[in-house]
Amino acid sequence: LASREVVKEKTAIRIGPEKFPLGGSKVGVIAGPCAVEDLDQVLKTAEKVKEAGCIGLRGGAFKPRTSPYSFQGMKYEGLEILAKAREKTGLAIVTEVVSLDNVDAVAQTADVLQVGARNMQHYPLLEALGKVNKPVLLKRGLCSRLDEFLLAAEYIINAGNKQVIMCERGIRTYEEYVRNTLPLASIPALNERTHLPIVVDPSHGTGHSYMVAPMCRAAVAAGADGLLVECHLDPEHALSDGAQSITPNALKEMVQSVTKIAETL
Ligand code: PEP
Ligand code: MN
Repeated sequence: LASREVVKEKTAIRIGPEKFPLGGSKVGVIAGPCAVEDLDQVLKTAEKVKEAGCIGLRGGAFKPRTSPYSFQGMKYEGLEILAKAREKTGLAIVTEVVSLDNVDAVAQTADVLQVGARNMQHYPLLEALGKVNKPVLLKRGLCSRLDEFLLAAEYIINAGNKQVIMCERGIRTYEEYVRNTLPLASIPALNERTHLPIVVDPSHGTGHSYMVAPMCRAAVAAGADGLLVECHLDPEHALSDGAQSITPNALKEMVQSVTKIAETL
């Protein structure tokens, strides 16, 4: 169902008021903090994200953290904060659903439900998302092959939801220089194999804020339809993933530079 042999045309997916891929030389950028930290943070970030020309605001209310002692997110209160940011800016809300228990709650607030890398093979969750009438942004698993990634999308579509966006966020390799190795070759490979839109997340894909903009440009040059980027007002004091979060000013510059690249394609 995800295969390009079956459907030749790229699937168009509604992300809030926009049709994604945006078409022309427009790159659909979704940006925001790793985690929702408080109302003020999210509203201020949302304004900046809107100003930079992004189509969506990301932010985790439920956070799947590697350590159980790390900040786990604001949960239901976080969802309410995200809804307020949409009200204020009109940005589409992209947020993660980590468990079967909160699919309904996340689906009520989110415009796009994110499946995290750690859950790419949580098959009951994928099937439950197949019953939801909202787009799903499916992240590639930390150690998954491209075929496994495509089959995870197949689970969602087979269960009834065709609105799946594929998100390359890097995979684990022996290289410790980066948080994950971001395989840009998976972009043309996915474009060849599937009609589903492709988003690249260079924040998790590198782990370093200074690498984010160059990898965004490379991803767009390689054929990505969109980008998912962590952006924080004060990265040094972020409750999660500060080292890979860019500032609002850097976000604005990044969007301008990827637009220039997209115009040459
Ligand atoms: C995230 O987007 O904040 C996240 C947890 O990403 P991943 O699932 O790719 O690690
Ligand atoms: Mn993160």
